[in-house]
Amino acid sequence: YEAISINKKRTKTINREKTSGIWVYAEHKKGVMHPVVYELLGKGRELADKSKHKLTAVLIDGESSHLAKELIAYGADRVILCSHVLLESQQDEYHFDAMTTILEEEIPSIFLFGATSFGRSLAPRMAARLQTGLTADCTRLEVDDVSGNLYQTRPAFGGNLMATILCPDQRPQMATVRSGIMHAKEPDYYREGMIKRVNYKGKIKPNIEIINEIIGEKKESIGDASVIISAGRGIGSQKNMKLVRKLADVLGGQVGVSRPLVDIGWSEYPHQIGQTGAVVRPQLMITCGISGAIQHLAGIADAKTIIAINTDPEAPIFSVANYKIIDDCIEVLKMLIDSMEKK
Ligand code: FAD
Repeated sequence: YEAISINKKRTKTINREKTSGIWVYAEHKKGVMHPVVYELLGKGRELADKSKHKLTAVLIDGESSHLAKELIAYGADRVILCSHVLLESQQDEYHFDAMTTILEEEIPSIFLFGATSFGRSLAPRMAARLQTGLTADCTRLEVDDVSGNLYQTRPAFGGNLMATILCPDQRPQMATVRSGIMHAKEPDYYREGMIKRVNYKGKIKPNIEIINEIIGEKKESIGDASVIISAGRGIGSQKNMKLVRKLADVLGGQVGVSRPLVDIGWSEYPHQIGQTGAVVRPQLMITCGISGAIQHLAGIADAKTIIAINTDPEAPIFSVANYKIIDDCIEVLKMLIDSMEKK
């Protein structure tokens, strides 16, 4: 209700005549950019080149103007920079208010956010403010170069189908995008771009007061792991998961699984790899009893070296594996653990 009442109060001030290309929200914390921003810039650059638009990064914070140059290096043509001491804390009410000030001059045709906890809070507020739609948790984005319409694909119905969503008559078209899916471009620190400064007065009285901030210990997520030992239905029973965990520990890696193992409760969702799970980029991946269904392969396309163990010589996993072991994965796991422990 609050968002709607804000809409009503402030809609008049939005200049809907002027849409200015593709925008990416550059989320960062105390000057450390969230990796999803580089991925969004990589995708944004591709969409901008295809639709002949400019790519803008919106950078909101107190003292982070040095980051503007980095955003240009990663593909932005322009950075909108809005600085104020109140914006230093990641308080989404202030960031929302600052974004509203920016949007009073121009609105984007496409606006992308990372599907982070902050992005998931800010993007819906912005969509309500702009009276437009928002597709959350996208895994694929394509633009029609004639109409400029954005095809936004995301898993739906518990991951049982991939839905492509179109918001044809609305501008901006807004999406949050999952981390680790899009590809960042190599930075070019000689790239030139424009920096536009927007003055923010910080007059709102926020409803939330931040009393204290406790930074928890950062656990390595499976998306960051450089070694993954992953198990599929061919592992046979839950007790055999101990062997997978043991080899992962011996090699300093993490455990991954195919979706059926999460469905039957042998593992948990953060370990699921694939189209509706995590996208991984390890240096080494050993798959044990995984057939290599297309939905699973979607999550491992960027793995550097894949060693696949499967009893079926025709299993599709072998088409992407660098090394094939056609054998019982339990026996191979025991042998690998044994030989690694002797070293
Ligand atoms: P299976 O396909 O049953 O394969 C088991 C393999 O183990 C077989 O190849 C068999 O030869 C081998 N095997 C058997 N015994 C042994 C042994 N002793 N030693 C060695 N090998 C052995 N799946 C995902 O993983 N991730 C996803 O994100 C995902 N998303 C999906 C989204 C949608 C919309 C849909 C419809 C499906 C999705 N799936 C996903 C499911 C996917 O289609 C497959 O069903 C699943 O990946 C199969 O898992 P699996 O390889 O463990 O099992």
